[in-house]
Amino acid sequence: MQRLESYLGGRWVAGSGDGAVLVNPSTEEPLARTSSEGLDLGAALAHGRQVGGAALRAMTFAERGAMLGALSEAVVAARNELLDLSMLDNGCTRSDAKFDVDGASFTLAAYAELGQSLGDRRYLVDGEAVELVRSRRLGGLHIKVPRPGVAVHINAYNFPAWGLCEKAAVAWLAGMPVLSKPATSTASTAHALARALVGAGVLPEGAFGFLAGPAGDLIDRMGYGDVLAFTGSSQTGRTLRTSPGLVAAGVPVNVEADSVNAAVLGPDVVPGDAAWDLMVRDVFRDMTQKTGQKCTAIRRVLVPEVHAAAMTEALVEEAGRLRIGDPREDGVRMGPVVSARQRDDVLAGIQRFDGPLKRVRGQGRPAELSGVEGERGYFVDVHVFRARDAAASHEASCVHDEEIFGPVATVLPYDGTVEQAVTLVARGRGSLVTSLYSEDRDVCREFTLGAAAWNGRVNIGSEKVAEVAPGPGTVLPQLVHGGPGRAGGGEELGGLRGLDLYMQRTAIEGYRPLLERLFDGT
Ligand code: NAP
Repeated sequence: MQRLESYLGGRWVAGSGDGAVLVNPSTEEPLARTSSEGLDLGAALAHGRQVGGAALRAMTFAERGAMLGALSEAVVAARNELLDLSMLDNGCTRSDAKFDVDGASFTLAAYAELGQSLGDRRYLVDGEAVELVRSRRLGGLHIKVPRPGVAVHINAYNFPAWGLCEKAAVAWLAGMPVLSKPATSTASTAHALARALVGAGVLPEGAFGFLAGPAGDLIDRMGYGDVLAFTGSSQTGRTLRTSPGLVAAGVPVNVEADSVNAAVLGPDVVPGDAAWDLMVRDVFRDMTQKTGQKCTAIRRVLVPEVHAAAMTEALVEEAGRLRIGDPREDGVRMGPVVSARQRDDVLAGIQRFDGPLKRVRGQGRPAELSGVEGERGYFVDVHVFRARDAAASHEASCVHDEEIFGPVATVLPYDGTVEQAVTLVARGRGSLVTSLYSEDRDVCREFTLGAAAWNGRVNIGSEKVAEVAPGPGTVLPQLVHGGPGRAGGGEELGGLRGLDLYMQRTAIEGYRPLLERLFDGT
């Protein structure tokens, strides 16, 4: 069985002991083994700080951009291998796998372009110089320089390729070395990706570390100048955010956690409209793409009471046409969830929804599966729940509180007013994204201004964008990704905005003409 190695201090090394066994979630067959036991993570961080940080800081943004461009090409070159592995260790269909792997190369390429546009400079000037007192001689300005430590990235299991690259691209462009730790269950794909990145031969020594297996004492070894960016469950996010060592050293911690995202049908839309069809398509795609294991997936489907039955029927009908099974079988459009633990969590969540909500479709494991032997594999059927009426949509707190990380969504009738739609959206206590489907300008403006404070992104679906919009589930590098409150309060990507996490903004004051000459951005 393959043993996944880590890349630390500029070489591939294996942990000791038996470690964890990674399995194919469709067949439960073992795929690989990995362990981080006995690895010297303190030395790996020191190597990154001393060697990798210095090398990256010596490069201009254009040079870092060119490096990202070459890394993007390396991911494209490894695409087929990565897609095959994703189907094995993630239970992804080929289309799900492309979403992850192509998202990785696309994000690297987007940050490569940004690097080119910043040109031959090594730091950023933030705004104009300003006058500080009643004299033109004393002035002040702000500059942004790379933080001096290592950017430690801890990722969730659901996007082993995109998750690694979307974080690393931004940190590298900012000028920080990266130590990336994927989730153990899908580390095979991340490991192959890490090999492709290292194999590209463009990363300076120390600029990249990769830890396969549990985090061990990684967090305790972090210190001044380091940054932590985490994606995963709220619970782990809380543990890391309050870790005494990170708090003591003032380490910036960015948390991307779980989210109970909503989609809202505007009061002006009726079944058969282009916006209706778009909403059905987006909701169903989010329920089934990556078997519902997407942080941006729509969980709450808010529909004016009069159309709630039609929306429920439309989703049930779509589910009836879906083929579920081993993703390597022809025609299969949804695979298993990633592990036995994940399946058990999803089934337990479904049971908690029974009672406060009506289960309209889904019986746990699907009755029919393609290419699957007996009871093997961690398969979960598409489940559609519904609240009785608008009052029940308010009362059923489970649907607003709990993210069931699988192919499950709930139709929630509301009274058709923007006010009630916003109130229900806000019950999620902070989400990554909410979508509104409406052609009415007043509804779009009123809803967006009301919902924005509770969301990292608001997606407005309408006839005009129906053919071109990738939908709310797709995170694009040009826009910020993250959400307030329970979604973690973090922010990633957003073009150049993403660099802020990895750069220190410093105010400089002194003789104004001198400052303007010294810090002109080059
Ligand atoms: P998780 O159990 O919290 O694990 C996330 C990562 O944290 C894994 O790499 C895990 O490593 C690591 N980890 C766990 N305990 C740790 C500790 N004490 N110290 C250091 N690292 C630790 O989450 P998951 O099950 O992988 O992911 C599912 C969750 O992620 C969902 O709730 C989903 O909503 C959320 N998510 C959010 C976003 C977003 O952008 N907001 C994106 C994707 C997923 P091991 O695997 O080795 O345990």
